[in-house]
Amino acid sequence: MQKFFSMKVTGKLDTATMNMMKTPRCGMPDVAAYSTFPRRPRWQKTSITYRIVNYTPDLPASVVDDSIQRAFNVWSQVTPLRFTKVNNREADILIQFSARGHGDQFPFDGPNGVLAHAYAPGPRIGGDAHFDEDERWTNTFYLGFNLFLVAAHEFGHSLGLDHSTDRRALMFPNYRYVDTNNFRLSRDDINGIQSLYGRRRK
Ligand SMILES: [Zn+2]
Ligand SMILES: [Zn+2]
Repeated sequence: MQKFFSMKVTGKLDTATMNMMKTPRCGMPDVAAYSTFPRRPRWQKTSITYRIVNYTPDLPASVVDDSIQRAFNVWSQVTPLRFTKVNNREADILIQFSARGHGDQFPFDGPNGVLAHAYAPGPRIGGDAHFDEDERWTNTFYLGFNLFLVAAHEFGHSLGLDHSTDRRALMFPNYRYVDTNNFRLSRDDINGIQSLYGRRRK
């Protein structure tokens, strides 16, 4: 199971590391500029399905659906990838909201701290994205965390990107609100995802 998980599991997510995570952020450890995971896992197809397993009570379901769809669009705009929502069948990427322990090795930590985490491309749990239900999820810029922005970051992991050290990058680990209406990936994010999937076909 561990080899599908996008964290470099060995010794990196120790207590000292966790204590350093003071500002709200993603639960994955840090590395340099844009980067991919060891052995560069990626989807070996361009048509990818996702399923929203459960919904946060913080937002209307339609807003969750819209936020998730827009978060996938961020990546499909610059790659050949296409994302389709499915409801009652097997999907590549499962999306869930859970608090504390939720069936994997990385329990969430209550409000703030780690907001979400996601697994690198692969079978079963590979690609799945988990959001901490103890956060308050919003579609604005105040009182909590913007679901679209956090989801777009997590889906970067679901597609094979690790964290970036570029502060302008979506894949920088710490949460930072930016205008979501005219959201654009940084050059670093685009270079990263295109290193795995190539450019969008015209
Ligand atoms: Zn992350
Ligand atoms: Zn999880």
